[in-house]
Amino acid sequence: MPEADWASAGQPLGLFGGTFDPVHFGHLRLAEEACEALGLTGIRWLPAGQPPHREPPRVAASHRLAMVRLAVAGNTRFSVDAAEVEAAAPSYTVTTLTRLRRELGPQQPLVLLLGADAFAGLTTWHRWQEIFALAHLAVLHRPGYPLRPESLPETLAWQYRARQAAGPAAWAAAPGGCILTLPMTQLDISATHIRALLARGASPRYLLPDAVLDYIRRHQLYGPR
Ligand code: ATP
Repeated sequence: MPEADWASAGQPLGLFGGTFDPVHFGHLRLAEEACEALGLTGIRWLPAGQPPHREPPRVAASHRLAMVRLAVAGNTRFSVDAAEVEAAAPSYTVTTLTRLRRELGPQQPLVLLLGADAFAGLTTWHRWQEIFALAHLAVLHRPGYPLRPESLPETLAWQYRARQAAGPAAWAAAPGGCILTLPMTQLDISATHIRALLARGASPRYLLPDAVLDYIRRHQLYGPR
């Protein structure tokens, strides 16, 4: 895209995909801190329908979507995009980004938010190298997943080094293509741990919003297998 076109680009929009099985405070804090640090106009949450690159989620997509809706309710900068859940096909980030690019236009800066663990696994994603042409990537630090280029697959380490944004002005002016790393409050919370607590009848309270926990209890989700 010629530089003149970048000048008319809008405020960057954050995109946050995940299995959210269930959504927890690690996710919410990541979204909140990225929104502030990057001056995002808002964040679209993208719950995955059938994630192809990992174990099938424990609960149905409709439940995971409902829990994300409860978690983000009341935050006017957060919205939920249900397209991946409603699609019958597997969820590929590249397909979602292509759809959003079409919807929002070529100039809109898009920032895909990823925890460091998700970024380290990027080379296993469908057509992963095409993602850079569609959006920026913001990689947020996560406890237990140090971000070291030397421990990334070589092709990803190369992209990581080549695409580091020189500064906020460089990436905010372009619709995509840069990789930014962001520190965030380190919250050692995972959906895996929450599922394990629930499976043994222990309480995950204060690791996730009360409204989400109420939903889990009401629908008797994540009990012992
Ligand atoms: P699971 O334990 O089932 O793998 P999860 O807690 O990692 O789930 P996901 O829905 O897989 O949650 O994650 C969605 C996104 O949020 C990913 O990019 C992941 O890296 C990021 N993320 C999840 N939890 C945290 C956390 N505590 N700190 C930083 N990033 C996180």
